[in-house]
Amino acid sequence: MTLTSTPTTLVADAPTLTADASPLATAHSQLTRVVAHLGYDEGLHQMLATPRRETHVAVPLRRDSGETVLFHGFRVQHNVSRGPGKGGLRYHPSVDIDEVRALAMWMTWKCGIVDLPYGGAKGGIGIDPREYSAAELERVTRRYTSEIMPVIGPDTDIMAPDMGTDAQTMAWVMDTYSVNRGFTIPAVVTGKPLAVGGSLGRGTATSAGIVHVTAAALKEADVPLSEVSVAIQGFGKVGGHAATIFADRGARVVAVSDQYGGVRAADGLDVPRLQQHVEATGSVVGFDDADPITNAELLALDVDVLVPAALEGVLDESTAPAVRARWVVEGANGPTTARGDQILADNGVIVVPDVLANAGGVVVSYFEWVQANQTYWWSEQEIAEKLARRMSSAYADVSALARRDGISLRDAALVIGVQRTAEAHETRGLYP
Ligand code: GLU
Repeated sequence: MTLTSTPTTLVADAPTLTADASPLATAHSQLTRVVAHLGYDEGLHQMLATPRRETHVAVPLRRDSGETVLFHGFRVQHNVSRGPGKGGLRYHPSVDIDEVRALAMWMTWKCGIVDLPYGGAKGGIGIDPREYSAAELERVTRRYTSEIMPVIGPDTDIMAPDMGTDAQTMAWVMDTYSVNRGFTIPAVVTGKPLAVGGSLGRGTATSAGIVHVTAAALKEADVPLSEVSVAIQGFGKVGGHAATIFADRGARVVAVSDQYGGVRAADGLDVPRLQQHVEATGSVVGFDDADPITNAELLALDVDVLVPAALEGVLDESTAPAVRARWVVEGANGPTTARGDQILADNGVIVVPDVLANAGGVVVSYFEWVQANQTYWWSEQEIAEKLARRMSSAYADVSALARRDGISLRDAALVIGVQRTAEAHETRGLYP
């Protein structure tokens, strides 16, 4: 198969397109298409498809009640050809080895697309963090860190927050690692609090990157950000800040949702007041001056830009046909299944893919790591400018390749990420 026709045909031609909408099936299906486009042989395909190292650990927790429970923890280093493994740590009940494998693979391509000197990795624990106290989460984090200590490090594999974890989690990882090594090692994690060597701008970086690439995509259609309506699924670390930044830049944020439900206001939500409501109640639900809306209804709204910024697989064969947005900008990792992608392409929806759209987080993670390594910290403005430059240039590369080869933005982004990884691998050569 070659990727030389229109995006619609490409997706329809995908050889491994199956009904399996698991993140790993989606990731493998994407890789197979791109490998075929690049004309790589099966040996290289297998190398790119297979994680370099996987660590499974048991994570026992003594609960506040005295009872002991056991969780399963994972760290997958998908590829380290371009540098140390890099990627988040996820706490969610759905975490299993296959999900972590998919997320680690996406980190490899993501770091390649924005040209960071990293490979890709991901970690996770199958735990629902909402059901545990802060003290319990601290003990789980420290035990997990201690179990995976042999395979992580500032030059080996660098963690960051992901779903269900935050800057405090990273501080616990950093402290556990440092205490065991006998000295402070801030560069073992990114996304940590400023007080222990975090970077300005890291907390909002993923969302800022989403808005940069949205603006770049709109510009190609001569549409200014100030003229579009936006719906955002997810109001956490990614969707919440994205709503604020979109509104600050003049876009009309007409709907947002979280795991409990959503709210909609056709004239635009008052995002600062909504943020206060969420701080007070823990959810967007119940916000006055807005109508209630379900998550499914949000995905089908007649808006210009739809930003899925929550879970994987929400745009599949059942939901994608209803999407009326002209642009889908993927804030979450893997929100669109292979079949969902095909349907969106058939319907002329432009998808700015996750590995490009949400790469702002890992870009500023890289800036944080560089600052920690040189023990010299940059201003917020320097970071914002460097982030904007890197996102714009990554978008321009992806868009130019998509136009040149007549392929989708997703295929173009993956071609760049996969090619940079393969080139590093081939240039280094196979040992022995
Ligand atoms: N968890 C984020 C992601 O999926 C950030 C990873 C990082 O900064 O290493 O991109």
